[in-house]
Amino acid sequence: MHLAAADLAALIALCRAEIDRHGEHLSALDSAIGDGDHGANMRRGLEAVFAERDAIAALPLPAALERIGLVLVMNIGGAAGPLYGTLLMELGRALPGDAGAGDLAAPDDLAAPLERAIAAVARRGRSGPGDKTLLDVLYPVQAELVRRSPPGDIAACARSAAHSTGPMQARRGRASFLGARSIGHEDPGASSCALLTAAICGYFEEHRPS
Ligand SMILES: [Mg+2]
Repeated sequence: MHLAAADLAALIALCRAEIDRHGEHLSALDSAIGDGDHGANMRRGLEAVFAERDAIAALPLPAALERIGLVLVMNIGGAAGPLYGTLLMELGRALPGDAGAGDLAAPDDLAAPLERAIAAVARRGRSGPGDKTLLDVLYPVQAELVRRSPPGDIAACARSAAHSTGPMQARRGRASFLGARSIGHEDPGASSCALLTAAICGYFEEHRPS
C-alpha cells in the first residue's frame, strides 16, 4: 500500500473536519466526567495540524507523523495532548527510517509500529486496558490490524470499543476523581479516538491506496 503526500494532506483535512463536526459532542462527554474542554482542545490541535498540512505532507512519513505529534502536544493541551502527541511521535519513530515521502506500509506492516506507539502512550499515561481512556480504543484497533481486518471492520471495532468505555470506572485522569460516578458515561478521549480512527478507515475504504 502506498500513501501519497496528497493522501496525507487529505487525511489531515478529513480528521480536522470530523473533530470540528463532533466538537460539541466531545465537550458534552467531557462535561459529564471531566472539565468539558475536550472538544475545544481537539479542535485547536487539529486546526494547528491542518494549518501545516502541506509542509507536513511533503515530509517523509516518519517525520510527518512525528511533526503531527509535536503539533498536537503543543496545541491540544489537557490530558489528551501528551497522549495523542506520544501516539503520533512514537508511531513516526517506530516506522522504518527509509519510508519515503508519504510511504505507508500495508496495514499488517503498521501493526507492529502501532503496538510500540500504544505501549509508549500507556507508559506516558501510566494506564492500561480498562482504565477508561483512549487506550481502550487503541488496543482493539491494533488487534484488528494484526488480523488484517478490512477498514470497515476496524472502524466498527473502534466505535464499539469507545462505546464500551461507558460502563467502565475511570482509573486515570480527572474522571477518576469521580469514582463510581464516572460509570455510565463514554470516555471523551476514547470517543475522539474512535471518530478519528473511523474517519481514517473511511478514507482507506474509499480510496484504497495501492
Ligand atoms: Mg478536559
